[in-house]
Amino acid sequence: KYYNMVEDMKGKIRVFCRIRPVGRAEAAQGGAAAVKKIDEYSVAVETPRGPREFLFDKVFSGDASQEELFRDTNRLIQLAMDGYNVCIFAYGQTGSGKTFTMVGDKDQKNPGIIPRAFNAIFDMMQENNTKFDFKVSSYMLELYNDRLQDLLVSPAGEASARPHSHGQARRVEIKRNRKGVVFARGAETKEASSAQELYALFQQACANRHISATKMNVESSRSHLIVSVTVESRNLTNGSVSTGKLSLVDLAGSERAAKTGAKDHQLKEANSINKSLSALGDVISALSAELPHVPYRNSKLTQVMQDSLGGNAKTLMIVNISPSEYNLDETLTSLIYATRVK
Ligand code: ADP
Ligand code: MG
Repeated sequence: KYYNMVEDMKGKIRVFCRIRPVGRAEAAQGGAAAVKKIDEYSVAVETPRGPREFLFDKVFSGDASQEELFRDTNRLIQLAMDGYNVCIFAYGQTGSGKTFTMVGDKDQKNPGIIPRAFNAIFDMMQENNTKFDFKVSSYMLELYNDRLQDLLVSPAGEASARPHSHGQARRVEIKRNRKGVVFARGAETKEASSAQELYALFQQACANRHISATKMNVESSRSHLIVSVTVESRNLTNGSVSTGKLSLVDLAGSERAAKTGAKDHQLKEANSINKSLSALGDVISALSAELPHVPYRNSKLTQVMQDSLGGNAKTLMIVNISPSEYNLDETLTSLIYATRVK
C-alpha cells in the first residue's frame, strides 16, 4: 500500500526522512550506530541524554530505492499538473544524500526526483493531450553567497567573453507579478517540448554550475540549486488556462562551519548558508503554526521559494540524514530542524 499524498495533503507541508545507506568506511567503524530504530513513520537516535524519537510522514531507510521514494512523490507532480504550486526540497548536511535524492548518482543509473519528475510531467501530458494543450517552461538558478545566478545562460555567451565576470553574466532578481507568481528577472526561461529537452536544459544548468563553482573555488554543496518548471494547461473544450509550478531544490549543506581554520570566504559562505536555511526554517514553522505573518523577505532563498511555500502551495521537505555515529550531531540538528515543521 502506497502513501496517498492527495488524501494526506490537507495540511500543506509534508516531511519525509531518508537515511543514507552505510558507506564502506563507516561500516568498518561500526556502521549505523547512531540511528537506533527505523520504521515507516519514525526514526530514533541515541543522544547523550538517551534515545530520542522523531516522527515523519514517511521514513525511507538505506535500502529504499529511488523508485520507492518517487512512488510517494509522484502525486505532487500530478498536483503541479493540476495547477498547484509545488515545492520539493532536500535538506541535510553535505554527504547525507541530498543530491542523490534530487538528481541521482553521477552516471544516472539511479536517477533521482528531478529526472523522474521531468518524465512524469511529459507522460501525464501525453495521457491528456486530447483534452489539454500544454506548455512547459523552466528556469534554473543557483544561489551562492546571497547571489542568484542564471544557470541557463549559454556558457559560450557573455560569461566567458568577460574574463573577470566569474560566470555572473547577468544579475538575476526575484520579482513577483500581480498574481504573486515568482519570476526570475534577468534569467532565461526556456520552453521544452519533451522530457529529453528539459533534461538537456538541466544538464546545461549543471555544467554551468560546475564552471562557476570552479571559478569561485567552491563546491556545489555550498550553493542552493533551484529548478523551476512551469506547466500551463489550456482546456481544449472551454479554453480555460491553469498554471502550475514545480520547484525542485537541492539545498546547500546544512553543516555548521568548522570552528577552526575556516578562511574568510568559507566563513562568508557558511554565514550566508546558515542565514538562508534558518530563514527557510522560520518560514516553514510560521506556515505550520499558521501565524499571520510569514517572514519570506528575510532571505533570497525564501523569496525564490515564496510562491511554492504557503498559500495553496504543496510542499514536501525531504530530510536526508547520515546513519553514522560520526555525524550524530549534525543528524540531530537536521532532525530537530525537520520537527519545526510539525
Ligand atoms: P549530498 O548531496 O547531501 O552532499 P550526496 O547525494 O552527494 O550527498 O551523497 C553522498 C554519497 O552517498 C554519494 O556518493 C551518493 O551517491 C551516495 N548516496 C547517498 N544516498 C544514497 C542512497 N540512498 N543510496 C546509495 N547511495 C547513496
Ligand atoms: Mg550535494
